[in-house]
Amino acid sequence: MGEFDGKVALVTGGARGQGRSHAVAFAEQGADVVICDRCADSPAVFYPLATEDDLAETARLVEATGRRCIAVRADTADRDAMDALVARAEADFGRVDIAVANAGVSVAAPVQSMTPGQWDEAIASNLTGVFNTVGAVAPGMIERGYGRIVTISSMLGRAGNTNMAAYAASKWGVIGLTKSAALDLADHGITVNAIAPGNISTPMIHNDALYSMMRPDLDAPTAEDVAPVFASLHAQPVPWLEPAEITRAVLFLAAEASAHISGTVLPIDAGNAARVTG
Ligand code: NAD
Repeated sequence: MGEFDGKVALVTGGARGQGRSHAVAFAEQGADVVICDRCADSPAVFYPLATEDDLAETARLVEATGRRCIAVRADTADRDAMDALVARAEADFGRVDIAVANAGVSVAAPVQSMTPGQWDEAIASNLTGVFNTVGAVAPGMIERGYGRIVTISSMLGRAGNTNMAAYAASKWGVIGLTKSAALDLADHGITVNAIAPGNISTPMIHNDALYSMMRPDLDAPTAEDVAPVFASLHAQPVPWLEPAEITRAVLFLAAEASAHISGTVLPIDAGNAARVTG
């Protein structure tokens, strides 16, 4: 018996990283899983995004648990694509009980030289994508009187940083969206909560472009070279956390028993939360 037996969980950005970790964990706990990912790079993003092979691999890992998986190439910034994905999930699996709006990109440039294209990419993927995910799943959840929505913000949804104007704006926006959606959906048995991760060990932070931005004094910085810089963003002396730490919180907020936790932001950031106003 799994905690999510009989449930259907949708995870955006599920091809790799944190999204894959959440998708596989839901399946291990008994849920059928719906994943989407854009599976395409963006000229505004300085590291490679996931591939169709990555998406297929997550589907394989989900199905290896014995659960069913719908895996679709879809961009969360495209509302029609998200509506179509939810319609397919409802047709094939009967419903969507849980939605994790996880897809996102990191866009980095000083505000004075950030291009409109970089700004638009961050807002489209990180904020409009969350709105489209919530908007696509909400009608069915209202009809059934049940839903658990988890959005993924960031510790940069509670602070700013150099090069991060667009990313931070999008992640602050996710928190405003989450709190407002929690109120709109409060009468319908639907909870909406945000998680604000610190540095999580995925390709979003482990890439040459970000390493070079963090250690401009070195020609080809390694993970070891950037670890102290990443650690300085946390309070506890750890440079990054594993996706499983975020998954634990996702599963907690998505549980049936978390019925009366809504509109909250849960930081999982090795103590950095202590430095900012909640
Ligand atoms: P990741 O790059 O490994 O995974 C993100 C996934 O989202 C990729 O598979 C990518 O292809 C997909 N994606 C991006 N834009 C998309 C779109 N518009 N439509 C569909 N799919 C899209 O990085 P991750 O760390 O797993 O990121 C997951 C979430 O966590 C993101 O929202 C990110 O902003 C957030 N986050 C990450 C960190 C970190 O340090 N890694 C910290 C705080 C918050």
